[in-house]
Amino acid sequence: MIQGSTELVAIVGSPIAQVKSPENFNRWFADHQQNVAMLAIDLAPTALQNFIQTLRGWQNMRGCVVTVPYKQLLASRLDSLSERSAALRSVNVIRREADGRLVGDIVDGEGFLNAARKHAFNPKDKQALVIGTGGVGSAIAYSLCQAGVSHLVISDLSQERVEVLGELLRSAFPEIVVSANPLTLKHFDLVVNASPVGMGAATDDGPMPLPNALMETLSATALVADVVTSPQVTPFLACARRMGCAIQTGPEMALAQLGNLGHFMGVTPLDI
Ligand code: NAD
Repeated sequence: MIQGSTELVAIVGSPIAQVKSPENFNRWFADHQQNVAMLAIDLAPTALQNFIQTLRGWQNMRGCVVTVPYKQLLASRLDSLSERSAALRSVNVIRREADGRLVGDIVDGEGFLNAARKHAFNPKDKQALVIGTGGVGSAIAYSLCQAGVSHLVISDLSQERVEVLGELLRSAFPEIVVSANPLTLKHFDLVVNASPVGMGAATDDGPMPLPNALMETLSATALVADVVTSPQVTPFLACARRMGCAIQTGPEMALAQLGNLGHFMGVTPLDI
């Protein structure tokens, strides 16, 4: 029950009906007797500037999770950003400080790594491939570099995106080898699909982000992950599983990120 004394957090995007964060957070708040609630806000693009002004003055609002299409649009309008948000020019969470200042971070990559660690994957000195260098792929690639992979390979249909992200990572992490477009998968400890390929497909028959010939070079010791949340097991993950690899699903990443989002807004511990 929302009361006058209830503190609020929100998730903002458009459309918003499909998001799972409100039910996940509100269940956690109820289970832990916290007088906090999450609202889902379907915001029209024309209202963005007014929304930011309102957020600064909204005194019982602790913060806001940000989803499509506002991750980049909001990053340029906040008062300060984490180093990775500033580098990637993107936010997926905002904290409202007591004085109304708005601070942003992007924790998609941290959520991904939390889920991977549950599969006993330790990124230090490992070789990883990230397919798709959009908002989520860039955040995962950045967090993998922060966590100390030795070699990161990125690929995307857009060569320009690969080049821009490659430049950014090489300048932020000069000690890490960053290259593009792999010819074989056999050396990778981690292979991630961070593109939307496979979204809405049938598990056993649907589009793949890599050609079959390349999939056949996968090592059975690799962890293979997908960010796509529906279906839970994408055609890509089903293929990796047939080849004997451990798999990590999109919903695992989403769930593993809750603590990072809640902790940044100051409403949950990091590890929930
Ligand atoms: P985006 O549009 O910013 O980026 C997608 C990128 O994938 C683009 O650069 C595009 O060129 C590339 N791409 C498309 N097809 C490709 C292919 N065949 N091969 C290589 N690259 C290809 O999208 P985004 O915001 O990064 O979201 C990506 C996916 O992540 C979506 O499906 C979204 O639903 C999902 N997502 C999952 C979580 C989670 O917690 N699991 C969180 C956020 C988003």
